[in-house]
This record gives sequence, C-alpha cells and structure tokens, in this order.
Amino acid sequence: APYQASDLRVLLKSTLTMLSRKLEGVELVKDFDPDLPQVPCYPAELNQVWTNMVDNAVSAMGGSGTLTVRTRRENQTAVVEISDTGPGIPDEVRPRIFEPFFTTKDVGEGTGLGLDISWRIVVTKHHGDIRVHSSSAGTTFEIRLPLG
Ligand code: ADP
Ligand code: MG
Repeated sequence: APYQASDLRVLLKSTLTMLSRKLEGVELVKDFDPDLPQVPCYPAELNQVWTNMVDNAVSAMGGSGTLTVRTRRENQTAVVEISDTGPGIPDEVRPRIFEPFFTTKDVGEGTGLGLDISWRIVVTKHHGDIRVHSSSAGTTFEIRLPLG
C-alpha cells in the first residue's frame, strides 16, 4: 500500500472490526479525537502495528478486561494509545520486549516478532516513536507519529 494521508480513526475502526471475534468478552472503549488531522503513513503497515498490540493486550488480560483505544494530538504528533487492564509487564521483561523472537508466551502462542516488527514500522519507517507505560494495573502502548 502506498504512502498516503490517512484518517487514523478509519484505520483503527477497521482493525477493531477485523478483531471483533478476538474481542468477545472484552470491554472496548474507543476515544478518538475528532480533530486529529490526517497522518501521512503506510496504512496497511500501521494496521499491522495495532493488530499486534491489541492481540498482546487481549492475551495479557486473558480474554476479559477493558481495552481502551484512544487517539490524540500533541503538537505536531499524532498519538495512538492502546491500553489494557492486564497484569502489566514485569520489570525484568520490560527491557527485552522489542527484541526479535523475545516472547514470554508458550511455544506456538507467540513468535516474539510482533513488537520488533512494530518498532521497525513506527520508528524506522514512519520516524515515529513507541512509548510503554506499565504497572500492576495494566499497560499502555503509545504510538507516536509525526503529522508532517
Ligand atoms: P509475542 O506476542 O509473540 O510474545 P511480541 O513482540 O508481540 O511477541 O511481545 C513480546 C512480549 O512482550 C510478550 O511475550 C509479552 O511478554 C510482552 N508484552 C507485550 N505486550 C504486553 C502487554 N500488553 N501486557 C503484558 N505483556 C506484554
Ligand atoms: Mg504479539
């Protein structure tokens, strides 16, 4: 898919629709900033990023909890937040989550590539950033994309 100005709300809604089976039993909260400008991006690749993060969030919550997907603008940056009410990322795991093939999941459950690929898409390809906030109350991934 080409590089194009995209409405992140539309991309996120289509991802969440595709994942609706997986989201059964999870409370979904959507909080989209209606004034967020379009973001120049590779939309299919960003869909891959949210898909992995929602997948991680749902598996951390064991299929029940609250998933919050939020967009907001911070100066010249579009921010997408994907939050869960799972157990959080343990301190000893946190430094390794973006390493290729690093996973805490059972064999066959995770490849450990999701966050490695997400990092390359967001940081290398879009010149953005990914920030992680985690506590025993849950985890938030902040995907930050330059607006132009
Ligand atoms: P995989 O999902 O195949 O394990 P990822 O690269 O997507 O690989 O994630 C790497 C690891 O980061 C996971 O195995 C898990 O330990 C941790 N992780 C990622 N997202 C979350 C989350 N939302 N809550 C708790 N741990 C997480
Ligand atoms: Mg994953």
